[in-house]
Amino acid sequence: MATAARAPDSRPHVELASTATRAFLARPPHLIVAGVREDWTGPTIATVDPSTGEPLATVAAADADAVDRAVAAARTLLRDPAYAEMRPADRERMLLRLADLVERDAALLAELDALETGKPLGTGRGILQGAAAFVRYMAGWATKIHGRTFTPSPRQPGLTLHGYTLRESVGVAACIIPWNVAVLMAAWKVAPALATGCAVILKPAEGASLTALRFGELVAEAGFPAGALSVLPGFGGVAGQALVDHPDVDKIAFTGSTAVGLRIAAAAGARMARTTMELGGKSPILVLPDADPDATARAAAHAAFYNSGQICGAGTRLIAPRALADELAERILVIAGGYRAGPALDPGTDFGPLASPAQSDKVRRLLAAAAAEGGEIARAPLTLPDRGLFVAPHLVLGADPRSTIFREEVFGPVLTVTPYDDVEEAIGLCNDSDYGLAAGVFGRDGRAVRRAVRALRAGTVWVNCYHVYDATMPFGGLGRSGLGRELGEEVLDNFLETKTVAEAY
Ligand code: NAP
Ligand code: MG
Repeated sequence: MATAARAPDSRPHVELASTATRAFLARPPHLIVAGVREDWTGPTIATVDPSTGEPLATVAAADADAVDRAVAAARTLLRDPAYAEMRPADRERMLLRLADLVERDAALLAELDALETGKPLGTGRGILQGAAAFVRYMAGWATKIHGRTFTPSPRQPGLTLHGYTLRESVGVAACIIPWNVAVLMAAWKVAPALATGCAVILKPAEGASLTALRFGELVAEAGFPAGALSVLPGFGGVAGQALVDHPDVDKIAFTGSTAVGLRIAAAAGARMARTTMELGGKSPILVLPDADPDATARAAAHAAFYNSGQICGAGTRLIAPRALADELAERILVIAGGYRAGPALDPGTDFGPLASPAQSDKVRRLLAAAAAEGGEIARAPLTLPDRGLFVAPHLVLGADPRSTIFREEVFGPVLTVTPYDDVEEAIGLCNDSDYGLAAGVFGRDGRAVRRAVRALRAGTVWVNCYHVYDATMPFGGLGRSGLGRELGEEVLDNFLETKTVAEAY
């Protein structure tokens, strides 16, 4: 009885966070409407700290009226010549400032992300560096958006024509993002939308709203005018759906699950709203017979278990020569067995929990289905904390291509291993998927690697490496993995329309 009484609401994991992070958590529910923070008295979302399973925060759940106000403010801003005709160099300068602000606030953002989604601090820091680098890269594009000139061949005698194209902002862009890497997803969409002169409404996922709200404040601090960005946390079926159906939203840039993406694309298509769809994946890792087993196993473990497998591009199907498959599986289990699982804010943690009860339930259900369908399940021998939403890395050995675990996206730390006898068969196994987001190829013979690269049906192929996302390199999927590309020069197309001009002179 001599120990000091702990306050009833004290939460040891939250107490590891800085004062600034705890102050942010303690804020009342709020939205950012047209760049301005608004306290919110409407419906809310109760979030959970996945490291402990305890309640974390109460977040605003925007309604259709908040969506209307944000869209109206966006439309008003687009009519304002000060924004519509802003010098590209000024947009560049504000985006450069935004990149600096993301770096300035990296500790706060990484801690909020760790608390909201269970992402280990080190993982979160790395992802934020990528977000800042991409915003900086997009700043450079703001001054390099231009059309082309043409010399047409008119059929009317005596007519001479000067032809050219203008690249114009698509207008009001709704950006709907998932929870797994929220600040990165916000940056991937909001930075190109602002570089091209759009006005933006960002709808983060239920479980990752706080980082998005902070990102929204940074956009305002960087100097973007009111109306350039609203951040509306809320339920997908309410705030998300209201954005998708809003007649004044010109473009929906969506990242999330294929199931939701299909519904949004259909609804947007019905009114011809533009869409970009970055959806799920079931990406193969093709091991060629001469691959280095040690390097391949290390890369495969990273491909499958980085961010506890909660990455769209995760490599989740290892397709390996029969002679190598067992050795690779053993090596991968040893590597994953060495991870340190723990609360996300513990600096020693490199393997975090899954982000939500729904996600950990889904992964457990799919593992049970894999066992029921005859898969041999191997668990990496690491110790898990006795609370929190942890699921250990698992392999499913000898996975049948018809089995659910080979076909469905798990979005958790599960890697199937399927042996093959010849390379043609292996390519067939890799391509035997509704998805086509990414693929890895491991091997030393350059000719064999290049043949495989050409035969694989994927938006991105990583050769002797995995999970390389770079501002300069377009990323996106084929088939049910989506439509369009983010990153690189290609992302500009998502937020621009082309106007063709024929001028007689
Ligand atoms: P999700 O359930 O599809 O949700 C994504 C976003 O859409 C959330 O903000 C969600 O809100 C919202 N939403 C749900 N229903 C909606 C509706 N009817 N209308 C408008 N918006 C709606 O996906 P998630 O579980 O958050 O994220 C995991 C998925 O994202 C995985 O499939 C993963 O592969 C994919 N992903 C893809 C990429 C890529 O670049 N290809 C990158 C990262 C993640 P709520 O939070 O309220 O449901
Ligand atoms: Mg969801």
